[in-house]
Amino acid sequence: MNEVKTLKYGNTRCYCINNRVMIDTDWAGTLPAFFKCIKENHIKISDIEYLIVTHFHPDHMGISQEFIELGMTLIAFEEQRAYIHCSDSIFSKDKNTPFKPIDGSKILFMSCADSRSFLFRLGIEGEVIHTAGHSDDSISVILDEGIAIVGDLSPLHTISGYKDKRLEESWNSILSHNIKKIYYGHFNEEYL
Ligand SMILES: [Zn+2]
Repeated sequence: MNEVKTLKYGNTRCYCINNRVMIDTDWAGTLPAFFKCIKENHIKISDIEYLIVTHFHPDHMGISQEFIELGMTLIAFEEQRAYIHCSDSIFSKDKNTPFKPIDGSKILFMSCADSRSFLFRLGIEGEVIHTAGHSDDSISVILDEGIAIVGDLSPLHTISGYKDKRLEESWNSILSHNIKKIYYGHFNEEYL
């Protein structure tokens, strides 16, 4: 069984799997709050080896470069390659917020198809799937015990109102994995 901790040190719900893999970061400037949060959750910074970003909007990747400098490896997926810097211009307009653009040479790129074998080597049974219902670069992390970490995908109970094909396709592909619990970027977890 994997342990998924919710780490909320700003406006985004970030997640940590087995104290080893971070999913998402909050906005730029939240590093001190992050340190306080992991301490409260009994996570040592040296134990966190990897960062996966559900999509590269500013409230999900703001301190990725700081994480890289702390020793984490940023794993990004081929569908995300063109979007790594899509939030840089937003942060460059805000001179009061310290932001470090991601050093692309440090990213470990892989295809979603390779994610299962990669996670298996970390003792995690699951995979990463491309779920473009929120943005072209959005991915979801699926754990085989029935957990989906879906980032900013519109919550399942709201989607009938959108009539959005990509959103429906994203949810269909998530739900094909026998999901029991959904973790969102900005909402409480949902049980199915
Ligand atoms: Zn977003």
